[in-house]
Amino acid sequence: MRDLWIKMCGNSHTGSFKDLGMTVLVSVVRWAMRDHGLSVRAIACASTGDTSASLAAYGATAGIPVVVLLPRGKVSTAQLVQPLANGALVLALDTDFDGCMAIVQQLAEAGLVYLANSMNALRLEGQKTVAIEVVQQFDWEVPDWIILPSGNLGNASALYKGFAMLKALGLTFKLPRLVVAQAERANPLVRAVRAGATTVTPMKAEPTVANAIQIGAPVSAPRAMMALAAMNGLAIDATEDEIADAAARADLTGTYCDPHTGVALAALFKLRAQGAIGENERVVVISTASGLKFTEFKVGYHERALAGIESRRANAPVVLPPTLGPVVDAIRARWP
Ligand SMILES: *Cc1c(COP(=O)(O)O)cnc(C)c1O
Repeated sequence: MRDLWIKMCGNSHTGSFKDLGMTVLVSVVRWAMRDHGLSVRAIACASTGDTSASLAAYGATAGIPVVVLLPRGKVSTAQLVQPLANGALVLALDTDFDGCMAIVQQLAEAGLVYLANSMNALRLEGQKTVAIEVVQQFDWEVPDWIILPSGNLGNASALYKGFAMLKALGLTFKLPRLVVAQAERANPLVRAVRAGATTVTPMKAEPTVANAIQIGAPVSAPRAMMALAAMNGLAIDATEDEIADAAARADLTGTYCDPHTGVALAALFKLRAQGAIGENERVVVISTASGLKFTEFKVGYHERALAGIESRRANAPVVLPPTLGPVVDAIRARWP
Protein backbone atom coordinates (compact mmCIF):
# COMPACT_ATOMS: atom_id res chain seq x y z
CA MET A 1 0.00 0.00 0.00
CA ARG A 2 1.31 3.47 -0.84
CA ASP A 3 -0.98 5.69 1.15
CA LEU A 4 -1.62 4.03 4.53
CA TRP A 5 -1.71 6.15 7.67
CA ILE A 6 -2.19 5.29 11.32
CA LYS A 7 -3.67 8.12 13.36
CA MET A 8 -2.20 7.80 16.84
CA CYS A 9 -5.15 8.85 18.99
CA GLY A 10 -3.75 6.87 21.93
CA ASN A 11 -0.80 9.27 22.32
CA SER A 12 -2.87 11.31 24.72
CA HIS A 13 -3.08 12.14 28.40
CA THR A 14 -4.36 8.77 29.66
CA GLY A 15 -3.24 6.74 26.66
CA SER A 16 -6.52 6.28 24.81
CA PHE A 17 -8.68 8.34 22.46
CA LYS A 18 -11.37 8.51 25.15
CA ASP A 19 -9.63 11.68 26.36
CA LEU A 20 -10.97 13.60 23.36
CA GLY A 21 -14.56 13.27 24.50
CA MET A 22 -13.98 13.16 28.24
CA THR A 23 -12.26 16.54 28.41
CA VAL A 24 -15.37 18.08 26.81
CA LEU A 25 -17.79 16.30 29.12
CA VAL A 26 -15.94 17.10 32.35
CA SER A 27 -15.37 20.72 31.29
CA VAL A 28 -19.08 21.22 30.62
CA VAL A 29 -20.09 19.54 33.89
CA ARG A 30 -17.65 21.71 35.83
CA TRP A 31 -18.99 24.87 34.14
CA ALA A 32 -22.59 23.82 34.84
CA MET A 33 -21.76 23.11 38.50
CA ARG A 34 -19.90 26.37 39.02
CA ASP A 35 -22.08 28.76 37.06
CA HIS A 36 -25.47 27.13 36.62
CA GLY A 37 -26.32 25.39 39.86
CA LEU A 38 -25.92 21.81 38.59
CA SER A 39 -25.48 19.65 41.65
CA VAL A 40 -24.11 16.12 41.33
CA ARG A 41 -22.53 13.90 43.94
CA ALA A 42 -20.21 12.33 41.38
CA ILE A 43 -19.69 11.67 37.68
CA ALA A 44 -19.90 7.95 36.90
CA CYS A 45 -19.27 5.55 34.05
CA ALA A 46 -19.26 1.89 33.23
CA SER A 47 -16.05 1.06 31.44
CA THR A 48 -13.98 -1.56 29.69
CA GLY A 49 -10.97 0.29 31.12
CA ASP A 50 -10.10 3.34 29.05
CA THR A 51 -13.22 5.40 29.76
CA SER A 52 -12.68 5.06 33.51
CA ALA A 53 -9.00 6.04 33.23
CA SER A 54 -9.97 9.12 31.29
CA LEU A 55 -12.91 10.12 33.51
CA ALA A 56 -10.83 9.65 36.67
CA ALA A 57 -8.04 11.87 35.34
CA TYR A 58 -10.24 14.73 34.15
CA GLY A 59 -12.51 14.47 37.20
CA ALA A 60 -9.51 14.76 39.53
CA THR A 61 -8.28 17.78 37.57
CA ALA A 62 -11.68 19.46 37.86
CA GLY A 63 -12.10 18.53 41.53
CA ILE A 64 -15.26 16.49 40.85
CA PRO A 65 -15.67 13.05 42.49
CA VAL A 66 -15.66 10.06 40.12
CA VAL A 67 -17.20 6.59 40.39
CA VAL A 68 -16.23 3.91 37.87
CA LEU A 69 -17.83 0.49 37.40
CA LEU A 70 -15.47 -2.07 35.87
CA PRO A 71 -15.95 -5.74 35.04
CA ARG A 72 -13.77 -7.52 37.59
CA GLY A 73 -10.65 -9.19 36.17
CA LYS A 74 -11.38 -8.05 32.59
CA VAL A 75 -9.29 -4.90 32.25
CA SER A 76 -5.52 -4.61 31.97
CA THR A 77 -3.42 -3.77 35.04
CA ALA A 78 -2.64 -0.31 33.70
CA GLN A 79 -6.30 0.39 33.00
CA LEU A 80 -7.23 -0.62 36.57
CA VAL A 81 -4.42 1.33 38.25
CA GLN A 82 -5.11 4.58 36.40
CA PRO A 83 -8.47 5.41 38.11
CA LEU A 84 -7.12 4.12 41.44
CA ALA A 85 -4.16 6.48 41.21
CA ASN A 86 -6.44 9.40 40.40
CA GLY A 87 -8.55 8.74 43.49
CA ALA A 88 -11.76 7.50 41.88
CA LEU A 89 -14.11 5.14 43.67
CA VAL A 90 -13.42 1.97 41.66
CA LEU A 91 -16.16 -0.64 41.83
CA ALA A 92 -15.04 -3.97 40.34
CA LEU A 93 -18.17 -6.00 39.62
CA ASP A 94 -18.38 -9.71 38.89
CA THR A 95 -19.97 -9.19 35.49
CA ASP A 96 -19.07 -7.95 32.01
CA PHE A 97 -19.21 -4.41 30.59
CA ASP A 98 -22.86 -4.79 29.64
CA GLY A 99 -23.68 -5.73 33.26
CA CYS A 100 -21.82 -2.65 34.57
CA MET A 101 -23.62 -0.47 32.03
CA ALA A 102 -27.05 -1.65 33.19
CA ILE A 103 -26.23 -0.72 36.79
CA VAL A 104 -24.71 2.69 36.10
CA GLN A 105 -27.75 3.63 34.02
CA GLN A 106 -29.96 2.89 37.02
CA LEU A 107 -27.69 5.00 39.26
CA ALA A 108 -28.10 7.90 36.84
CA GLU A 109 -31.86 7.45 36.59
CA ALA A 110 -32.07 7.53 40.40
CA GLY A 111 -30.26 10.90 40.29
CA LEU A 112 -27.30 9.65 42.32
CA VAL A 113 -24.65 10.32 39.66
CA TYR A 114 -24.11 12.17 36.39
CA LEU A 115 -23.61 9.67 33.57
CA ALA A 116 -20.41 9.92 31.52
CA ASN A 117 -20.94 7.05 29.09
CA SER A 118 -20.95 7.72 25.39
CA MET A 119 -24.71 7.96 25.01
CA ASN A 120 -23.95 11.37 26.54
CA ALA A 121 -23.74 13.67 23.50
CA LEU A 122 -20.94 15.72 25.10
CA ARG A 123 -18.59 12.76 24.68
CA LEU A 124 -19.48 12.34 21.02
CA GLU A 125 -18.91 16.06 20.38
CA GLY A 126 -15.35 15.67 21.62
CA GLN A 127 -14.68 12.41 19.75
CA LYS A 128 -15.85 14.11 16.56
CA THR A 129 -12.58 16.07 16.51
CA VAL A 130 -10.79 12.96 15.17
CA ALA A 131 -12.51 13.55 11.81
CA ILE A 132 -11.57 17.22 11.80
CA GLU A 133 -7.94 16.51 12.64
CA VAL A 134 -7.62 13.82 9.98
CA VAL A 135 -8.93 16.15 7.28
CA GLN A 136 -6.84 19.07 8.48
CA GLN A 137 -3.69 16.94 8.50
CA PHE A 138 -4.29 16.07 4.83
CA ASP A 139 -4.69 19.75 3.88
CA TRP A 140 -8.49 19.47 3.95
CA GLU A 141 -8.63 16.40 1.75
CA VAL A 142 -10.84 13.52 2.81
CA PRO A 143 -9.21 10.06 2.81
CA ASP A 144 -10.87 7.23 0.87
CA TRP A 145 -11.23 4.94 3.87
CA ILE A 146 -11.26 5.26 7.62
CA ILE A 147 -10.98 2.12 9.75
CA LEU A 148 -12.09 2.17 13.38
CA PRO A 149 -12.03 -0.57 16.04
CA SER A 150 -15.48 -0.50 17.64
CA GLY A 151 -17.36 -1.77 20.66
CA ASN A 152 -20.06 0.49 22.05
CA LEU A 153 -20.15 2.21 18.62
CA GLY A 154 -20.19 5.78 19.95
CA ASN A 155 -17.07 6.60 17.98
CA ALA A 156 -18.40 5.25 14.70
CA SER A 157 -21.25 7.68 15.09
CA ALA A 158 -18.95 10.51 16.24
CA LEU A 159 -16.70 10.08 13.19
CA TYR A 160 -19.71 10.30 10.93
CA LYS A 161 -20.89 13.44 12.73
CA GLY A 162 -17.45 15.01 12.27
CA PHE A 163 -17.12 14.23 8.58
CA ALA A 164 -20.74 15.22 7.92
CA MET A 165 -20.19 18.55 9.66
CA LEU A 166 -17.10 19.32 7.58
CA LYS A 167 -19.07 18.61 4.42
CA ALA A 168 -22.07 20.65 5.54
CA LEU A 169 -19.76 23.59 6.22
CA GLY A 170 -18.35 23.34 2.70
CA LEU A 171 -14.84 22.53 3.94
CA THR A 172 -14.90 19.12 2.24
CA PHE A 173 -16.86 17.57 -0.60
CA LYS A 174 -17.23 13.91 0.28
CA LEU A 175 -17.38 11.43 3.14
CA PRO A 176 -14.75 8.71 3.52
CA ARG A 177 -15.90 5.09 3.49
CA LEU A 178 -16.11 3.79 7.03
CA VAL A 179 -14.94 0.36 8.15
CA VAL A 180 -16.26 -0.63 11.57
CA ALA A 181 -13.87 -3.33 12.84
CA GLN A 182 -14.92 -5.68 15.64
CA ALA A 183 -13.43 -8.65 17.43
CA GLU A 184 -15.17 -11.81 16.26
CA ARG A 185 -15.91 -12.57 19.91
CA ALA A 186 -17.85 -9.34 20.31
CA ASN A 187 -19.28 -8.66 16.86
CA PRO A 188 -22.98 -7.77 17.14
CA LEU A 189 -22.77 -5.11 14.42
CA VAL A 190 -20.93 -7.39 12.00
CA ARG A 191 -23.58 -10.06 12.55
CA ALA A 192 -26.38 -7.57 11.89
CA VAL A 193 -24.81 -6.32 8.66
CA ARG A 194 -24.10 -9.88 7.49
CA ALA A 195 -27.72 -10.84 8.12
CA GLY A 196 -28.95 -7.77 6.25
CA ALA A 197 -30.73 -6.60 9.40
CA THR A 198 -31.51 -2.96 10.11
CA THR A 199 -31.11 -3.26 13.87
CA VAL A 200 -28.40 -4.81 16.03
CA THR A 201 -29.37 -7.77 18.22
CA PRO A 202 -27.44 -7.87 21.52
CA MET A 203 -25.23 -10.91 22.09
CA LYS A 204 -23.08 -12.19 24.92
CA ALA A 205 -19.58 -10.86 24.21
CA GLU A 206 -16.80 -13.38 24.84
CA PRO A 207 -13.39 -12.46 26.31
CA THR A 208 -11.02 -11.00 23.73
CA VAL A 209 -7.50 -9.56 23.83
CA ALA A 210 -9.19 -6.37 22.62
CA ASN A 211 -10.85 -5.97 26.02
CA ALA A 212 -11.98 -2.37 25.46
CA ILE A 213 -14.37 -3.55 22.76
CA GLN A 214 -15.74 -6.65 24.50
CA ILE A 215 -19.28 -5.31 24.32
CA GLY A 216 -22.34 -7.31 23.28
CA ALA A 217 -25.07 -4.70 23.63
CA PRO A 218 -23.67 -1.50 22.09
CA VAL A 219 -25.64 1.57 23.17
CA SER A 220 -24.92 3.55 20.00
CA ALA A 221 -25.87 0.74 17.60
CA PRO A 222 -28.68 2.66 15.81
CA ARG A 223 -26.41 5.69 15.30
CA ALA A 224 -23.65 3.43 13.97
CA MET A 225 -26.04 1.77 11.49
CA MET A 226 -26.86 5.25 10.21
CA ALA A 227 -23.16 6.08 9.93
CA LEU A 228 -22.50 2.89 7.94
CA ALA A 229 -25.34 3.65 5.54
CA ALA A 230 -24.31 7.29 5.03
CA MET A 231 -20.60 6.45 4.58
CA ASN A 232 -21.07 3.43 2.31
CA GLY A 233 -19.43 1.50 5.08
CA LEU A 234 -18.39 -2.05 5.84
CA ALA A 235 -18.37 -4.07 9.07
CA ILE A 236 -15.49 -6.55 9.39
CA ASP A 237 -14.49 -8.82 12.25
CA ALA A 238 -11.24 -10.52 13.21
CA THR A 239 -10.33 -13.62 15.20
CA GLU A 240 -8.01 -13.47 18.20
CA ASP A 241 -5.18 -14.86 16.09
CA GLU A 242 -5.77 -12.33 13.30
CA ILE A 243 -5.83 -9.47 15.83
CA ALA A 244 -2.57 -10.50 17.50
CA ASP A 245 -0.84 -11.20 14.21
CA ALA A 246 -1.87 -7.84 12.74
CA ALA A 247 -0.56 -6.01 15.81
CA ALA A 248 2.73 -7.96 15.74
CA ARG A 249 3.13 -7.34 11.99
CA ALA A 250 2.65 -3.59 12.53
CA ASP A 251 5.08 -3.62 15.47
CA LEU A 252 7.80 -4.88 13.13
CA THR A 253 7.50 -1.55 11.28
CA GLY A 254 8.19 0.37 14.49
CA THR A 255 4.73 0.88 15.97
CA TYR A 256 3.73 -0.58 19.34
CA CYS A 257 0.18 -1.60 18.60
CA ASP A 258 -2.49 -2.11 21.23
CA PRO A 259 -4.87 -5.01 20.45
CA HIS A 260 -7.70 -2.66 19.36
CA THR A 261 -5.56 -1.09 16.69
CA GLY A 262 -4.74 -4.72 15.84
CA VAL A 263 -8.45 -5.31 15.16
CA ALA A 264 -8.52 -2.38 12.72
CA LEU A 265 -5.33 -3.51 10.99
CA ALA A 266 -6.63 -7.07 10.70
CA ALA A 267 -9.73 -5.66 8.97
CA LEU A 268 -7.48 -3.68 6.63
CA PHE A 269 -5.41 -6.74 5.70
CA LYS A 270 -8.60 -8.69 4.91
CA LEU A 271 -10.04 -5.94 2.76
CA ARG A 272 -6.77 -5.58 0.86
CA ALA A 273 -6.62 -9.34 0.29
CA GLN A 274 -10.18 -9.29 -1.05
CA GLY A 275 -9.38 -6.30 -3.25
CA ALA A 276 -12.09 -4.20 -1.60
CA ILE A 277 -9.46 -1.60 -0.76
CA GLY A 278 -7.22 -0.69 -3.69
CA GLU A 279 -3.44 -0.35 -3.56
CA ASN A 280 -3.47 3.37 -4.25
CA GLU A 281 -6.35 4.36 -2.03
CA ARG A 282 -5.70 6.56 0.97
CA VAL A 283 -6.52 4.68 4.15
CA VAL A 284 -6.48 6.01 7.71
CA VAL A 285 -6.48 3.47 10.55
CA ILE A 286 -7.53 4.97 13.87
CA SER A 287 -5.18 3.75 16.61
CA THR A 288 -7.33 4.10 19.70
CA ALA A 289 -4.93 3.37 22.55
CA SER A 290 -1.27 3.27 23.47
CA GLY A 291 0.32 -0.16 23.32
CA LEU A 292 1.97 0.67 26.63
CA LYS A 293 -1.38 0.11 28.39
CA PHE A 294 -1.48 -3.50 27.21
CA THR A 295 1.74 -5.00 28.50
CA GLU A 296 0.06 -8.32 29.43
CA PHE A 297 -0.98 -8.71 25.79
CA LYS A 298 2.49 -7.91 24.47
CA VAL A 299 4.31 -10.13 26.96
CA GLY A 300 1.81 -12.95 26.49
CA TYR A 301 2.26 -12.78 22.72
CA HIS A 302 6.04 -12.90 22.77
CA GLU A 303 6.02 -15.64 25.44
CA ARG A 304 3.57 -17.62 23.26
CA ALA A 305 1.20 -17.75 26.23
CA LEU A 306 -2.03 -16.39 24.72
CA ALA A 307 -4.77 -19.00 24.25
CA GLY A 308 -5.90 -19.40 20.65
CA ILE A 309 -3.03 -17.28 19.34
CA GLU A 310 -0.13 -18.73 17.41
CA SER A 311 2.49 -16.00 18.04
CA ARG A 312 4.07 -16.55 14.63
CA ARG A 313 6.15 -13.39 15.03
CA ALA A 314 7.19 -13.95 18.67
CA ASN A 315 10.63 -12.63 19.55
CA ALA A 316 12.11 -13.98 22.77
CA PRO A 317 15.16 -12.59 24.59
CA VAL A 318 18.31 -14.68 24.19
CA VAL A 319 19.75 -15.40 27.64
CA LEU A 320 23.55 -15.63 27.59
CA PRO A 321 26.54 -15.72 29.91
CA PRO A 322 28.36 -12.36 30.12
CA THR A 323 31.23 -13.26 27.79
CA LEU A 324 32.06 -12.16 24.25
CA GLY A 325 31.96 -15.50 22.44
CA PRO A 326 28.31 -16.39 22.97
CA VAL A 327 27.24 -12.80 22.19
CA VAL A 328 29.08 -12.93 18.85
CA ASP A 329 27.56 -16.33 18.12
CA ALA A 330 24.06 -15.03 18.85
CA ILE A 331 24.44 -12.14 16.40
CA ARG A 332 25.85 -14.46 13.72
CA ALA A 333 23.06 -16.96 14.31
CA ARG A 334 20.43 -14.30 13.74
CA TRP A 335 21.93 -12.96 10.49
CA PRO A 336 24.07 -15.85 9.12
C1 LIG B 1 -13.58 2.68 23.68
C2 LIG B 1 -12.55 2.08 22.82
C3 LIG B 1 -12.85 1.64 21.52
C4 LIG B 1 -14.22 1.60 20.93
O1 LIG B 1 -14.96 2.80 20.94
P1 LIG B 1 -16.55 2.68 20.92
O2 LIG B 1 -17.02 4.09 20.80
O3 LIG B 1 -16.94 2.06 22.23
O4 LIG B 1 -16.96 1.82 19.77
C5 LIG B 1 -11.81 1.15 20.76
N1 LIG B 1 -10.55 1.09 21.23
C6 LIG B 1 -10.24 1.49 22.48
C7 LIG B 1 -8.83 1.37 22.94
C8 LIG B 1 -11.22 1.99 23.32
O5 LIG B 1 -10.89 2.39 24.56
